[in-house]
Amino acid sequence: MRLDLSALSSSFRGSLITPYDPDYEGARVLFNTRVRTRPALIARCADAGDVAAAIRFAREQELPLSVRGGGHHASGLSLVEGGVVVDVGGMRDVVFDPASGTATVGPGIGWRDVDRVTYAEHSFTGPDGLEYGLAGPGGECPTVSNAGYTLGGGYGPLGRTFGLGCDHLLAAEMVDADGRLLRASETEHPDLFWALRGAGGAGFGVVTSLTYRLNPLPKTVVGGVIAWPFERAREIFRAYRDLYANRADDRLALCLLLTTEPYPDGEPVIAMYGMYVGPPAEAHEAFAPIHALGEPLFSSIGETSYLDMMTVMGEEIVYGLQSKWLGGYFTQTGFDEDAFDVMAERFERSPSGYSMVRFDLLAGGAIARVPADATAFAHRSALHYVSIIAQWPGDEESAANVAWVDDFAAALRPHLTGEVYQNYADRDLADWPAAYYGANYPRLQRIKQEYDPSDVFHTPQSIRLP
Ligand SMILES: Cc1cc2nc3c(=O)[nH]c(=O)nc-3n(C[C@H](O)[C@H](O)[C@H](O)COP(=O)(O)OP(=O)(O)OC[C@H]3O[C@@H](n4cnc5c(N)ncnc54)[C@H](O)[C@@H]3O)c2cc1C
Repeated sequence: MRLDLSALSSSFRGSLITPYDPDYEGARVLFNTRVRTRPALIARCADAGDVAAAIRFAREQELPLSVRGGGHHASGLSLVEGGVVVDVGGMRDVVFDPASGTATVGPGIGWRDVDRVTYAEHSFTGPDGLEYGLAGPGGECPTVSNAGYTLGGGYGPLGRTFGLGCDHLLAAEMVDADGRLLRASETEHPDLFWALRGAGGAGFGVVTSLTYRLNPLPKTVVGGVIAWPFERAREIFRAYRDLYANRADDRLALCLLLTTEPYPDGEPVIAMYGMYVGPPAEAHEAFAPIHALGEPLFSSIGETSYLDMMTVMGEEIVYGLQSKWLGGYFTQTGFDEDAFDVMAERFERSPSGYSMVRFDLLAGGAIARVPADATAFAHRSALHYVSIIAQWPGDEESAANVAWVDDFAAALRPHLTGEVYQNYADRDLADWPAAYYGANYPRLQRIKQEYDPSDVFHTPQSIRLP
């Protein structure tokens, strides 16, 4: 049945897309094309007023609603079957204040577009005489929204040095279930501010503006990708573990990756990618243990700019694939020889060249210095996270790829804590409150009761009322 949109469309500034619209299919597709959810309405909002109107409309029509930013939710919970999608992906303003080193941005904008303004186009001379810009605390994917990333934590290459995305948040504006615009900070709705820093799309409202502190970063840094033949996987795993065991300097940010080179039709390789978060002159010593590993298959490690390096990495992302992501945080001793055997053996059996295993959430340093109860983000003590990412194009390949990732994760389970990063959400997870939020869950439930007592922002994995 066609929805009567007349009550909404008269004052709505953005666009309203229903299944009768030729734009519907494009508007509905998520990064993970395995998600086939068909909403009744996608309300592409232009501002907070549109957000409030879309929420009001969904409630009046008694339709379920979901919130969508960049559309990268691993399990598709930013869409709702037969309901209203409040889509804030087009709200992409950037207001940069160089004097305070902060930026206030719309929820839909990606980190590269922020960095372009604050890091590439802005310059100042640091106390060391080098030229600097101000970088946002982003990850490498240019189309992940800053809000979706930050609300669930937000790991990027600057994390060990400066903290998670959510640790950079100074204030946020949120439209609640009654259409009120609330401002949350350390001094305004501090409990909501605590929850927004880590609870993810857990259902308090729609965030329409975020203010971040930014990070001084030299215009020239040392970083890139270095890869070795897969036969050396165990040796490289060992070197990577030793690189970070008891490491005091938190400025070397290297992730580990099992992938295929050339991607996706080549041979398996093991690679490290990332950067030294500081002056290039200091990077040589930090990279010495990596270079001591001998001749790689290839290496692009060298002087670059942070924006260029992140842009190049983002260009490696393939769109339009189906996926299933599983993973978890390693126990204190779990990143060991037995785990290395499991990972090397299982990866080689992957049915798809698009699949990968990433140790992409390198923690420690500034992330670990924040107490686990200081924000809703609970996973502060772990150093390594494994993401087993099955990716494939066609439906006929789904069963084999899902079986591969399920079996792989089961084999690795003894090495993991059971905690799961809420931004790599797995909708089949039985005890998701414990896995995502640990001891912080009861407090999140009390805040849910206060800000969304009717559970309007309900998803299969939103915070439950107490
Ligand atoms: C290719 C790829 C690379 C990634 N790289 C990283 C990385 O390097 N580091 C990292 O930490 N994570 C990374 N992620 C995970 C990513 O941060 C999360 O999936 C994030 O939630 C995506 O946000 P989105 O808005 O793009 O997605 P969406 O699917 O639109 O939304 C994700 C969740 O956030 C909620 N949400 C989004 N916007 C708002 C808002 N304004 N107000 C309230 N709720 C909102 C949605 O309801 C949904 O529950 C990556 C994901 C992908 C697919």
